[in-house]
Amino acid sequence: MVARVIPVEPFDLVIFGATGDLARRKILPGLFHRFRAGQMPSDAKIIGSARSEMESAEFRTLVGAAIAEFVAPDLRPQDQLDAFLQRLDYVHIDVTGDIGWDALQKILRPDTIRTFYLSVSPALFGAIAERLSTHAIATPQSRIVVEKPFGHDLESARALNRDLLRHFDEAQIYRIDHYLGKETVQNLMALRFANSLFEPLWNATHIDHVQITVAESLGVAGRGGYYDQSGAMRDMVQNHLMQLLCLIAMEPPSKFTPNSVRDEKVKVIEALDPVPLRDIVRGQYRAGRDNQSYFDDVENPDSRTESFIAMKLTVGNWRWASTPFYLRTGKHLRDRVSEIAVIFKDPPHNIFPNKMEGRKGNALIIRLQPDEGITLRTTIKEPGPGGMRLTEVAMDMSFADALGKDLTSQDAYERLVMDVIRGDQTLFMRGDEVEAAWAWADPMIAAWEEASQRPMPYDPGSSGPEEALMLMHQGGRRWRPIGD
Ligand code: NAD
Repeated sequence: MVARVIPVEPFDLVIFGATGDLARRKILPGLFHRFRAGQMPSDAKIIGSARSEMESAEFRTLVGAAIAEFVAPDLRPQDQLDAFLQRLDYVHIDVTGDIGWDALQKILRPDTIRTFYLSVSPALFGAIAERLSTHAIATPQSRIVVEKPFGHDLESARALNRDLLRHFDEAQIYRIDHYLGKETVQNLMALRFANSLFEPLWNATHIDHVQITVAESLGVAGRGGYYDQSGAMRDMVQNHLMQLLCLIAMEPPSKFTPNSVRDEKVKVIEALDPVPLRDIVRGQYRAGRDNQSYFDDVENPDSRTESFIAMKLTVGNWRWASTPFYLRTGKHLRDRVSEIAVIFKDPPHNIFPNKMEGRKGNALIIRLQPDEGITLRTTIKEPGPGGMRLTEVAMDMSFADALGKDLTSQDAYERLVMDVIRGDQTLFMRGDEVEAAWAWADPMIAAWEEASQRPMPYDPGSSGPEEALMLMHQGGRRWRPIGD
């Protein structure tokens, strides 16, 4: 299968924080891939901006080095890399001051769509939005892209929204959650709403429970300072896992338009029941053979921030009453795995007595990481003449095998940046959506802080604390293993 590349309109893209880690690792290599694929028109311009003083030539060298580091040699032919680097300019601006903005204004073309990508600390979002407006750089057609974390709680998220909305309309604001740019996540919508197979079963009558796991095998060493202020709930659940939950649980939108999709997602968040502390397990990894403890990684022996969280949620609406959703995410776990498992109920009547023992039942597994794809677990007769014995097989579809590696290897950032240029907000979080997710998360965080709760220790390389297993066992269910 060949990827269809539809070039986007000419654009001027300004990246604030262009010398930072995210720009070097993801945004600029991603843009290079799109350039190589022919999606970027030849007159597109990328303007880097940051606090460091440098000339455009120096910036091009820096970006060339980043691409050499983060893009495989066979994917970066020198002539194409040179051509891409010619599209780059640099303007030095300390965004907390008023110097440099006129130089930026001069580089931008009057009739070209302007996109401002804020790959900087959220503390700078307000300053940049304001100066783009007061220096008359932002136009009514401009777009502004902001990175996570979008707030630390409801109040700070509201303040960020206010700062942006003072100068930009909601239709101009693109809040990135890079999980939404993953192929499988978008495929969730296709799977549910472009097939008639699953939707009739997609409810509490047929689905026993849903498990969403985002497990990492590494700890937080190297970014402990940031992480300890945040924790698994704020860093992962409130945004990424919540987005996955929304796509699984939402009602079919009437149209595939950004606001129809986002309206349905907000309804899911608003329907979530409050989660009692007994249905939440928080953990912190211990030291292991090859790693320091969480306390050492964050240099805070008294930290009560969780590096692991598991919880049981219920969605208080007609479709999902009585189907729990179990979420789990953490650091230093057994493997790096992200998946959604939809576990179906047993048939209402068993005509194979004694033949179903040990059977786990039908499940639809949507894999985000590794090897994006979908598996459907079904029960069949064990082949051979031994009578009617039942066994389970997986109908396994790897996207890379089915569609080709080229089609599936795109990074989420590549897709999302092109969506911004196209003006498609479907895969970006709306302001009310982010606020609703914080409004849901805040009372839980307040409850464990008020209870002075200490997270449970767990061994690195494990599946998290024992208590997380118990949370599932209480309901007579089991977590899927993390990794093989
Ligand atoms: P970083 O510290 O590596 O880079 C920050 C950039 O901001 C640098 O280019 C710096 O020059 C610029 N900057 C800082 N203060 C400035 C000022 N006053 N004026 C102008 N420029 C200024 O940070 P990063 O890791 O690239 O992260 C950027 C943003 O993206 C943060 O909000 C972060 O939370 C978010 N993010 C990062 C990652 C990641 O993998 N690095 C992932 C998700 C989200």
